[in-house]
Amino acid sequence: MKVAVIGAGQLGRMLALAGYPLGLSFEFYDRTADTPGGQVGPIVSGEFDDLARLEQLARRADVVTFDWENVPVSSLEPLVRHAPVYPQPAALAVAQDRLLEKTLFRDLGIPTPPFAPVDLRQDLEAAVTRIGLPGILKTRRFGYDGKGQARIRTRADIATAWTALGGEPLIYEGFVRFSRELSLIGARSSRGEVAFYPLADNVHAHGILSVTRAPVRSAPLQRAAQRHMRAILDHFGYVGVLAIEFFVERGRLVANEMAPRVHNSGHWTIEGAETSQFENHLRAILGLPLGSTAARGYAAMQNFVGRLPARAAALAVPGLHLHDYSKREARPGRKLGHATVVAGSARAREAALRRLQRLR
Ligand code: AMP
Repeated sequence: MKVAVIGAGQLGRMLALAGYPLGLSFEFYDRTADTPGGQVGPIVSGEFDDLARLEQLARRADVVTFDWENVPVSSLEPLVRHAPVYPQPAALAVAQDRLLEKTLFRDLGIPTPPFAPVDLRQDLEAAVTRIGLPGILKTRRFGYDGKGQARIRTRADIATAWTALGGEPLIYEGFVRFSRELSLIGARSSRGEVAFYPLADNVHAHGILSVTRAPVRSAPLQRAAQRHMRAILDHFGYVGVLAIEFFVERGRLVANEMAPRVHNSGHWTIEGAETSQFENHLRAILGLPLGSTAARGYAAMQNFVGRLPARAAALAVPGLHLHDYSKREARPGRKLGHATVVAGSARAREAALRRLQRLR
């Protein structure tokens, strides 16, 4: 069976690496061939709005998926005539727009930070008055890893935030004084089977995920997160892996965003769970039985952003699993790889993580 993957970044690469043992084949699509995915499978290069080329790709595939959230929905919708496209373009359309996303959360009874759409400067003034300070002004589209955001602490910050972001569709959100950030990853197969991983705890640096620890052992939070995710899965009749990022505020989950794809905070599942998020995404979109999502121990994942440790030094750390995405260029803020450690207890995990972090 052949899976077409639109976008050939590290997520697509790890998807293929998980699929080869199952006997699957892959074909990637991206702007250039020299990509992490293109190094592990055949790749067609073309623009993301080149419908003729994308349709040819879909005709050769049993299923189409994507590893990049900014693939135009209008490029995916016509492909369903040739092969199923999972996750469904309708779910991607919502995830691409922070206003649609938060509105859906609210409609499904999932708590969110207070929010208001902002198109004009006077909308921002009104939103700050209604929601209060501090808050964050964000672009509705194309924001990721903290990009396209401006903090507003006092009314004096309104002008600077407006100069930085004004002119595109925006959303103003009340600032959540969270104690931690958690994410839930789940999967729903095309046959309707659903599975959830244990919650993961995420620490960000400069708006980019730095460390994930899993499992988070909290039955009430796990139950609440699963209830919220199930509402979204049911709403779309969703197929594939879905991630939701939550803040924990006074013991309660507040949803920040969802990602209709495998997610950086799920990389720990490659070695830390019975079945990785990548394998379960493939099982889900191909209508195969989902694999167990149980944790194998206590895992920590450290992202390597901007710089990779020396390979020999990393591999000298006992129990360390290295993932080098083989990107040609190291740039500040670019995710180049990650490493995972899995231990028998939370305390042993912390010791292993400290050894791993000394590499940097
Ligand atoms: P995002 O691009 O929405 O995932 O935001 C990146 C990071 O900014 C999040 O992981 C949080 O650490 C922080 N952040 C985003 N929105 C809020 C909010 N409403 N309140 C507090 N922190 C936020």
